[in-house]
Amino acid sequence: MALYYILKSLGKEVIPYNPDTIPKSFSFLKDIDKYQHSIDKNEEFDVGIVVDNSDISRIGNDWPANNIKTVIQIDHHVKAQVFGDIVYIDEHAVAVGEILYFIIKEIIPKLNFDIAQALYLSILTDSGSFRYSNTTPRTFYVAQKLLEAGAKVYDINIEVYEKVEFKKIALLKETLSTIQFNKTKNFAIMYLTKEMFKKHNANEDTSEGFVNYGRIIDGIEVSCLLKEINKEEYKVSLRSKKFDISQIAIEYFSGGGHKNAAGGKINGDLNTIIEELKINFTKWLS
Ligand code: 5GP
Repeated sequence: MALYYILKSLGKEVIPYNPDTIPKSFSFLKDIDKYQHSIDKNEEFDVGIVVDNSDISRIGNDWPANNIKTVIQIDHHVKAQVFGDIVYIDEHAVAVGEILYFIIKEIIPKLNFDIAQALYLSILTDSGSFRYSNTTPRTFYVAQKLLEAGAKVYDINIEVYEKVEFKKIALLKETLSTIQFNKTKNFAIMYLTKEMFKKHNANEDTSEGFVNYGRIIDGIEVSCLLKEINKEEYKVSLRSKKFDISQIAIEYFSGGGHKNAAGGKINGDLNTIIEELKINFTKWLS
């Protein structure tokens, strides 16, 4: 959205695109309803700017790859796939919002309120509220500048963290009841089936953050959440305290991500997957 605001102010025609739904807690951002979830494949674009995406296959089927003259890739993922014509990857940035701050400052020295709100939201959420290990002095420097530009810290906190829907709590309660541990008690695993989502009239967004509950347990090094997408097909979310899970996400789950937050997919029978992961993580964590 920060890119959308700045490009619009420069008189550009801009389509914000995301194949996924936008979390409800982000709905306070101005013009967020301008997001399109599909694109006409025949439409022509001078530039496609891809942010926060370490794997072009995650961009959705509508991405008009053949009709974009120049692709600019801006990312902060570790070992991101390089697919842009112009590439700016900073693995040390806590969020793409941190990178964009410096780019946008080159275009307009004085940030406006909407840009400050969007960049602050990016940094707040991707840094786990300034708690994760990729939070640096630069993160706080940028946050300071965003506050000076008017970002409303407390209002954003309410929007993002204190408007939890009742159905989310109900779904969380059920998800927590599925928790299992490996024998060395350093790996926690939970799951969500399609039926559980349906029962609570929920979708994947509703389960945002659930995987973290496994990680906050004393002694648990890696937390895993399996989300059923299709029969015997699961989306995998992984969180770790210190252990680097990015390589396992790539090699074992055909996915990717960061040192402490990664994901991918796995196929098979649910109970078999759980038992195998408990054994494998015991080995990987030893
Ligand atoms: P989450 O658990 O929130 O879905 O994802 C955590 C992190 O893992 C994100 O940084 C995301 O980019 C990455 N990730 C999750 N699933 C996949 C996947 O299937 N492929 C790749 N390359 N990265 C993923």
